[in-house]
Amino acid sequence: MELTYADFSRRGVPDMKACLVRSPAPIETNPLEYLDLPAPQPAARQVLVRVNACGICRTDLHVIEGELAAHKSPIIPGHQVVGTIEKTGPDATRYPRGTRVGIAWLHSTDGTCEYCLAGKENLCNHPSFTGYTVDGGYAEFALAEESFVYPIPEGFGDLKAAPLLCAGIIGFRSLRLSGIERGGRLGLYGFGAAAHVAIQVARHWGAEVYACTRDQRHQKLALELGAVWAGGTVDQPPAQLDSAIIFAPAGEIVPAALKALRKGGTLALGGIHMSQIPPLDYDLLYQERVVRSVANNTRQDGHDFLRVAAEIPIHTEIEIFPLREANRALNALKNDAIRGAAVLQIAG
Ligand SMILES: [Zn+2]
Ligand SMILES: [Zn+2]
Repeated sequence: MELTYADFSRRGVPDMKACLVRSPAPIETNPLEYLDLPAPQPAARQVLVRVNACGICRTDLHVIEGELAAHKSPIIPGHQVVGTIEKTGPDATRYPRGTRVGIAWLHSTDGTCEYCLAGKENLCNHPSFTGYTVDGGYAEFALAEESFVYPIPEGFGDLKAAPLLCAGIIGFRSLRLSGIERGGRLGLYGFGAAAHVAIQVARHWGAEVYACTRDQRHQKLALELGAVWAGGTVDQPPAQLDSAIIFAPAGEIVPAALKALRKGGTLALGGIHMSQIPPLDYDLLYQERVVRSVANNTRQDGHDFLRVAAEIPIHTEIEIFPLREANRALNALKNDAIRGAAVLQIAG
């Protein structure tokens, strides 16, 4: 029988299964520990979410392996959480218990800095991030601020919805910042979880998509999802691109992508971490080409994307792993062995 949070509380031992990283280490050493931890308690305007599914993102790998400087350790990773509200904090009134919600990367902002006041909360000076600066969703329970959760549209099961919360939302913001227009030509570099969602939005907008990725299985998936062409990471697509997005964390792709870009085109860098970008010939950038990074997302991006995702509707390809096998899932992700997105099944 499945125990509810209330059962745990009655027993006086609020407990949950979780995967924890004590200190950053290469994923090959299986640094995630599967163990029992006390379940957290919601404060003030927080909600406690019973986690059913948590998507795995490349950023989790960066957190676990230490490419991103540690802010909290030990840490429970995971920022593509789908579950139901189990308990609300004393001042949380927005959603009733039982509401199905998603928790994403942007955990909270200060709401008062110059960026928040200018509608750019993704650049907030004092943000917190789920599964990075606060514990995330590789666990049976996770906390969120009620104003930062997203109701999940009906029509998506929990597992299929999980990759929408970062791969989907960040891919969507990347598309917006790439300036791709209806009928334009878009290049996607790296074809993992984010790109396999972004291509569906781009095609919905009437764009032609060219996929550049080193893995042949990923090239095949791109073609299945409607790419007009798929080739290697630094292969020249057969047409000049209006916009491109690099999702792969590899700086050496930047010159190749710029080379494929027409005059005035924009190259958006969708990752939170990238290896060093090699020296560029100015000719690659000249003619008003733009290179820009994509940092986090606003809540508006999230709500807009989930509306579009339901409208299309987006189909996510997922590979499911049990929570206790998070190490295996992340090793597979590192080795390009995931088709679409990896998702941890936590309940159900
Ligand atoms: Zn702020
Ligand atoms: Zn992510």
